[in-house]
Amino acid sequence: MVVGAGISGASIAHHLARQGVSVVVIEQAPQPAAGATGRSGGMVRAYDPDPVIGDLALASLATYRDPGCWASGRAPLHAVGAVTAADPAQEPTLRQAAGQLNDALRTSAHVVTECDQVAGIHLAGGVALVEPEAGWVAPAEVTADWLVQARADGAVVCHGLRVHAVQADGGRPLVRTDAGTISAGAVVAAVGPWAADPTPGLRPASPVRSRSIQVSVVERRPPAPPHATFVDLRTGWYAKPVGADRTLIGMPHLVWDSPVDSPPDPTHAQATVAALTAHFPWLTTAAHLHTVRAADAYHPPGRGGQASELLEGTDVPHVWSVRAWNGGGVKTAPEAGRRIADACVADAFSDAA
Ligand SMILES: Cc1cc2nc3c(=O)[nH]c(=O)nc-3n(C[C@H](O)[C@H](O)[C@H](O)COP(=O)(O)OP(=O)(O)OC[C@H]3O[C@@H](n4cnc5c(N)ncnc54)[C@H](O)[C@@H]3O)c2cc1C
Repeated sequence: MVVGAGISGASIAHHLARQGVSVVVIEQAPQPAAGATGRSGGMVRAYDPDPVIGDLALASLATYRDPGCWASGRAPLHAVGAVTAADPAQEPTLRQAAGQLNDALRTSAHVVTECDQVAGIHLAGGVALVEPEAGWVAPAEVTADWLVQARADGAVVCHGLRVHAVQADGGRPLVRTDAGTISAGAVVAAVGPWAADPTPGLRPASPVRSRSIQVSVVERRPPAPPHATFVDLRTGWYAKPVGADRTLIGMPHLVWDSPVDSPPDPTHAQATVAALTAHFPWLTTAAHLHTVRAADAYHPPGRGGQASELLEGTDVPHVWSVRAWNGGGVKTAPEAGRRIADACVADAFSDAA
């Protein structure tokens, strides 16, 4: 059983069903991608300063580029390019990373220095790793495609059904839902920010917290140039194009224990425009269209660094919780889902033995 039909649960369900595992997906909302996934900007790039995330993101970008991996027959990637800005002291690290990405993906990643502007983005004194073959995906479309594939491989996907509790019953999980109890061979909780206030039996061994993420969409009119997706590692500020004439902008919103459906924070929205003007000077006259606020599951600071494990145990045998994605679960979902599915199958076989 996979609990949650966000991008993580959908990827896991697809990879399990593809291996012939009998899969049921339980989603509390009437439709998939109702949590962080449905509000996500979907920026994807292969480089990440965290090597665990970078490893997942590199393999995931290959999947997002490959039309053969999708029920639609089309690769979901909008390859507008990705620019990662950093402090000039990071130049050797970025150069090394560019070489590794190009070796693995046959791409044209490169580092720019002493350059004021690249791919429509002012670097504001930074250096940048440019990945021309990266960009963004529509996370809800990706989720829907994986669920189509999972169903075609025999999975059952239930919407509007909430898991209330999971308990051990004869060595296997017994799952209590709105519609009664279900005996499962194993359970994977891919509940995103809901993991911060866990359903009994789904509590991850290392607690996570929900943290707010807020983004605004603004109008981008000529002479403002088209631009690549962007993140600045010095500040955490980011942006991506939305179609031909809009741009999504964001900066960290350090509000912890924030529900997914909290109302937008107008002060933070104004601060975001002011900050991103350093990289997109045309923002000073751009019309603000709307602001979206949601939350993702985060490993709180001081926990001892990033969790490297993809799955954490719970206090119920054969019940697992997916790691918190710290605001970056879309760029890792294809490969994370594949590895998590493999781990679940290994768990099942270890028990059979
Ligand atoms: C505004 C915003 C912008 C972002 N931008 C990016 C980006 O550019 N690039 C990137 O890589 N990442 C980005 N992220 C992060 C990324 O979207 C998340 O890490 C990812 O979507 C998390 O997916 P998930 O499936 O783990 O969680 P979710 O999408 O939250 O899915 C969890 C699902 O579990 C269901 N659920 C919860 N509890 C239960 C229960 N008891 N019973 C049944 N169902 C339950 C929920 O209804 C929900 O559908 C962004 C996030 C936000 C909010």
